Amino acid sequence: YQTLRLVLGDQLNASHSWYQDKSEDVLYVMAELHQEATYTVHHIQKVQAFFAAMQGFAAGLKQAGFHVLHLTLDDTAEFKNLPEMLTHLIKKFGIQQFEYQLADEARLRTQMSEFCQSLEIKTMGFEAEHFYVSDQELGQYFKVNKKHRLEHFYRTLRARFDILMRNGEPEGGQWNYDKDNREKLKKQDLSDVPQPLLFANDVTEINERIARHNIKTMGKGDNTLLWPINRKQSVELLNFFCEVCLPNFGRFQDAMTGQLKGLGEDLGWSLYHSRISFALNSKILSPKQVVDTAIHYYRQSNGKINLAQIEGFVRQILGWREFVRGIYWANMPNYATLNHLDTTRVLPSWFWDANTKMNCQHHAISQSLDYAYAHHIQRLMITGNFCLIAGIHPDEVDAWYLGVYIDAIEWVEMPNTRGMSQFADGGIVGSKAYAASGNYVKKMSDYCSSCTYKVTETVGSNACPLNSLYWHFMHRNQEKLGNNPRTAMVFKNWLKKTDEQRAAVLNQAETYLENINNI
Ligand code: FAD
Repeated sequence: YQTLRLVLGDQLNASHSWYQDKSEDVLYVMAELHQEATYTVHHIQKVQAFFAAMQGFAAGLKQAGFHVLHLTLDDTAEFKNLPEMLTHLIKKFGIQQFEYQLADEARLRTQMSEFCQSLEIKTMGFEAEHFYVSDQELGQYFKVNKKHRLEHFYRTLRARFDILMRNGEPEGGQWNYDKDNREKLKKQDLSDVPQPLLFANDVTEINERIARHNIKTMGKGDNTLLWPINRKQSVELLNFFCEVCLPNFGRFQDAMTGQLKGLGEDLGWSLYHSRISFALNSKILSPKQVVDTAIHYYRQSNGKINLAQIEGFVRQILGWREFVRGIYWANMPNYATLNHLDTTRVLPSWFWDANTKMNCQHHAISQSLDYAYAHHIQRLMITGNFCLIAGIHPDEVDAWYLGVYIDAIEWVEMPNTRGMSQFADGGIVGSKAYAASGNYVKKMSDYCSSCTYKVTETVGSNACPLNSLYWHFMHRNQEKLGNNPRTAMVFKNWLKKTDEQRAAVLNQAETYLENINNI
């Protein structure tokens, strides 16, 4: 072979221009690597999904007539890391040119660029050809340390790509229907929640390899993987979402319930969410395909899918997903070190076994461990909020989120976690700290009604820990947050309390923090 082309596990884009022509001289290499399976402790389903998807992609390329070398953990165990393996293959096959698609994680991009510098043969990097905004264009939209806001970026992209637009104006006359999208699931809504479409991919051999190579993982996983691992399954899931879930997507986007778990196997745990994040982040599906498909369903739906639902969905993909990527690349590598609120605490042990009396945390974490999945509000306002108000160090929080979710890749995980949820970037990604007391959980879920703790109480042995921790958070961060008009009101309320009341609340929070592993 003349050329070696490396395909990473999150580069499973079959529409890439690499595959427009076939050449006898090109060898495609895909490899299960110890370094990738261990750079954080991943959920077992995440490792299974990436390895299974890579295997399927390699088989598809081979079937289409490309030359592909697919290496398993067994084959790559002798190499310390990716560069070592590539060096070996380049020598073995007498390769004259090394080609790669730009990695989406800073860690890998640095590794690749150092590797390329060390080579004496020609090297060439390609765009991944996946995102709406290409790598080259990102700099036009994002500047380092700048406090960008989603809304402006999102509107610019809506207009640029002519998505849900009419004569240069947003369809329906409004850009944003967020206010229509905040409903709680009432008792009578529960029986309508659809069962998720699950797959049954056999991952027995992958599990054996994971065990054989002592890859440490977290969470539950057996020999059958429910996540989509190829294009056919991903498209099926996307169509299922558009048909069954999209009509209520925005409406119940922020809702949470503990009532469906245990009623029947796998009943309704992902509510009206799409669960296409793995298919998107591994690049099996492109964002354009997802947005175009959803809009197609909307147009054909005779009003069953209304504008607020489709706009809410498009905003997540065209807006948030592209936005956080821009923030990541404008601010890395420094972003990974930010800790605006100077937090120091380690994560409580129950993040790994869900063994906490707080029903909301228990539910969000056990679901995450069972399925490698939680929806956005569970991530932001349940576990994320707890970490924020308890003052957990952002490195700890990042590592957990980067491991536990099926869709966690650093470019999207970190701005969401360190930025949006932990405010460790001081407001680069979001305009305020998403701190909340138990009241928010009560408003958006039914978790509180069956909780050991009383959401209406702030002090006392049964008081909801979120209440005192919330005030403790506000109190200790007054200097950093007090100037923000969005939190100024909160401080006014805090100062209205008597000294004694404030001391009692702070004491209560301290007690919980001292016993953080047992609350
Ligand atoms: P849906 O609710 O059906 O939304 C559709 C799609 O929109 C998602 O698949 C995703 O591609 C996109 N999307 C929605 N919200 C966001 C967002 N805030 N940022 C980027 N894309 C978004 N998403 C990841 O893909 N990987 C992560 O590692 C990740 N970590 C997160 C950590 C925290 C603390 C928070 C608050 C959010 C995180 N998100 C992450 C965003 C979001 O929670 C997930 O994309 C979503 O829950 C995936 O489930 P879904 O496919 O059912 O999403």
